[in-house]
Amino acid sequence: MTEPSDTQAAIVVGGTVAIDHVKTPSSEGRDLLGGSASYAALAASFFAKRVELIGIVGHDFPVQHLDMLAAHGVSLAGVERSESASFTWSGEYMQNMNERVTHSVAVNVLESWQVKVPASAQDCSIVVLANMAPENQLEMLAQCPAQPRFVIADTMDLWISIAQERLHDVLKKLDLFVINEGEARELAGTSNLVEAGRILRSKGPRYVVVKLGEFGAMLFGPGSEESISPENFFRSAAYPLETLADPTGAGDTFLGGMAGYLSAYGAGPYDFATIRQAIVHGSVLASYTCEAFSTHRLESLQQEDLRQRLADFQAMTHW
Ligand code: AMP
Repeated sequence: MTEPSDTQAAIVVGGTVAIDHVKTPSSEGRDLLGGSASYAALAASFFAKRVELIGIVGHDFPVQHLDMLAAHGVSLAGVERSESASFTWSGEYMQNMNERVTHSVAVNVLESWQVKVPASAQDCSIVVLANMAPENQLEMLAQCPAQPRFVIADTMDLWISIAQERLHDVLKKLDLFVINEGEARELAGTSNLVEAGRILRSKGPRYVVVKLGEFGAMLFGPGSEESISPENFFRSAAYPLETLADPTGAGDTFLGGMAGYLSAYGAGPYDFATIRQAIVHGSVLASYTCEAFSTHRLESLQQEDLRQRLADFQAMTHW
């Protein structure tokens, strides 16, 4: 594994900054901070010195949510303020907490959003394209010219259904693609996850991570297309959660946590062993997101707690 670099890489994270209403079998939260980029940027801030957030909010966006992100060192220079209403998402978890129903999505400010990366954020060498329309991901990437740069992206079933061609254009430009199990099967057109990982790599990304929810994640690197070996394949567990309050944003936290971990290794390229470590760090950070509504648990998380959980997780999964 490469050594941490003297120069940390700056991270730019783009995606949705949302107002969420979330219901679980035992509780309910309204006007919560949500959005793929909010979770990812906050997560990245636990490991990275500089995180630039790119997104858009409406006139109704609670100011305390932005204040909280700023207090965690996230730069808001790239957050556009609009006169229209904020992107608002409302969802409900069923009894087993794995099944989620989306009750409403009010696109509002995202309707005609054109991503703008301010000049002050264009030097960032880690680019995180959190879940948003592939068109917006491409728009953002075109404004992130740093070289070398490392590009990480996520997506969701909606874009596989309605914007698959543009999603394939995104895939061609990625270093690391993160996708959940069901979506990987759908996009790759196979139920075998090893085959799906290989097919997704053949579409462009050097690394592919398939998320398995409460069961962890799988990483595919260069060489895995020929045969799976410890040099190109890694299977991470997930931290065993005693309290599962609200899993919303766990995937986005995972994404941002990975980027944050990588930032300590400079602008890249990163070797397989470093990406492997990034997965474990992203996964442990995501476990906190599930313990309370919205970003609440991350907000109160102390570095010492995080270090302890990482050490426990290592001891629990090592053999
Ligand atoms: P996850 O739990 O990883 O699926 O992420 C949940 C977050 O995604 C919520 O905070 C939502 O505000 C946000 N979200 C919901 N729908 C979309 C969408 N179509 N595009 C981007 N973000 C979304």
